[in-house]
Amino acid sequence: MTRYQLLAALDAAGVSLFVRDGELRYQPKELMTPRLYAALKEHKTGILTMPHCRACGQLPLRTRESQVSGVCLRCLSDSEYTAAVKAMGARRRAERDDNHVDDRAEA
Ligand SMILES: [Zn+2]
Repeated sequence: MTRYQLLAALDAAGVSLFVRDGELRYQPKELMTPRLYAALKEHKTGILTMPHCRACGQLPLRTRESQVSGVCLRCLSDSEYTAAVKAMGARRRAERDDNHVDDRAEA
């Protein structure tokens, strides 16, 4: 599996990645499977080059706002978080218009 498939698989399994003291860590331990662990070992170097939250180490930084600020959404200040959520909502609406996807039921 590719690095991005692995990140998606870890996400689906409920395993979070973070960097502490330059080391790649994960939690919670009990949700890690041998298959995911083997893939994580294989991709460790590549994953460590990805941007992570400079406050808590969370990886990857998923939103454009957190990539720009260098911290994850949880570590943004209240005002930054509010601005980020607004920007994401606006972007989602713009993308929806671009793609002509009708998801009014969710609104
Ligand atoms: Zn963080």
